[in-house]
Amino acid sequence: MEEDESEKKEIHTFQSLGVNDVLIESCKSLNWETPTKIQIEAIPAALQGKDIIGLAETGSGKTGAFAIPILQNLLSNPQRLFALVLTPTRELAFQICQQFEGLGASFGLKCVVIVGGIDMMTQSILLAKKPHIIVATPGRLVDHLENTKGFHLKSLKYLVMDEADRILDMDFETEVDKILNVIPRDRNTYLYSATMTAKVNKLQRASLKEPVKIQISVNKYHTVEKLVQFYLFIPLKFKVYFFWSF
Ligand code: AMP
Repeated sequence: MEEDESEKKEIHTFQSLGVNDVLIESCKSLNWETPTKIQIEAIPAALQGKDIIGLAETGSGKTGAFAIPILQNLLSNPQRLFALVLTPTRELAFQICQQFEGLGASFGLKCVVIVGGIDMMTQSILLAKKPHIIVATPGRLVDHLENTKGFHLKSLKYLVMDEADRILDMDFETEVDKILNVIPRDRNTYLYSATMTAKVNKLQRASLKEPVKIQISVNKYHTVEKLVQFYLFIPLKFKVYFFWSF
């Protein structure tokens, strides 16, 4: 049988997406052999300097989708306080930092986590060392921007808002606005969210410039193909009868 041209699947590799040799080696060291769907869509656009809005969930490989382009640009333009990743929870912050450190292990990448529940002074010392990447929850980051002498984000080149729907659901809107007001307008922004809520849409319009939109469907919530669904409008008094007759 002849294969339909449209069904031929393109094979993607990190190299074909434009990832450099240093980062391809980093991916190998993490056992990332081939890029995930979100990485296939997001990495080339990000490497072209586009802002990105990605609808994808944890488990899709979205951290790699934003970390690889950031690190590739950092390698060509080395600079401290290069990128800020905002995330709703402490746990996610540590997981994201771990992936950045894994990808940047061969070139001495410094990443710090700034979240609540940890001593402010210890964090101030880490910030004074000017890491390349900060992964933070919005509340604690604003605390440092307002109270830690000498700390600012005026040189930032990238802002990532990860799980933006959860950030906004947790009432971090004011903190996110404060952060947006003190970072350079001339930057790249990546916004990742599992759902597109009205608040996320508003944030997207306020903080991204002509973003490329990427949506990765997650199969686990899809309706089974052959399932038949229908409405049956019946008087209330017959409801029980209908129920039992099925
Ligand atoms: P994330 O959705 O970013 O939280 O990633 C979920 C998991 O997928 C993490 O454990 C990553 O290490 C892993 N991962 C990310 N990209 C790849 C890839 N290209 N191949 C295999 N595993 C990956």
